[in-house]
Amino acid sequence: MAAPHPFCFPAPLKTSLMREALSEAAKAALEGEVPAGAVVARLDGTIVARGRNRVISLSDPTAHAEILAIREASSLERNYRLDGLVLASTLEPCAMCLSASLHARLKAVLYGAPEPKWGAAGSLLDLNSVRGMNHRLELLEGGILLDECSDLIKSFFREKRRGPGNARRGFPCGTLKRG
Ligand SMILES: [Zn+2]
Repeated sequence: MAAPHPFCFPAPLKTSLMREALSEAAKAALEGEVPAGAVVARLDGTIVARGRNRVISLSDPTAHAEILAIREASSLERNYRLDGLVLASTLEPCAMCLSASLHARLKAVLYGAPEPKWGAAGSLLDLNSVRGMNHRLELLEGGILLDECSDLIKSFFREKRRGPGNARRGFPCGTLKRG
């Protein structure tokens, strides 16, 4: 079903990028944010930029891990186009993040766990397959280190439901309520 990929992206490289993204996600969890992490890398695996979910700490609904990693990569590359670069994210990107990946002209997006409520890589909608879109990712693949990525998010919410820090940390949507 999947089209043949015009470039070789070895499985060990995919998993090593996802491990880096997972370490970013773990930092987000420690900060009370939903644990999502992302990295932007070159095809040889060199990490260009990192991002973690910071919607609460920055009071910014767009501060998703992928957006922050793309912004940093663009800034460091001094280029609003990230041709030939790869994004790896622990969670399936939402429509905003996948759209940003298309605007950035990324070559590939890899992700770990599917996101049934927000995922735009095939779960909720399939943005990369919209006909007539100006750019298309050459590779969009989920399930990289699926168990680790899923366990991290599940354990975060499990702990949140039980833990005493519930009120203090809150969910991202809680930031909408002020005073
Ligand atoms: Zn997003």
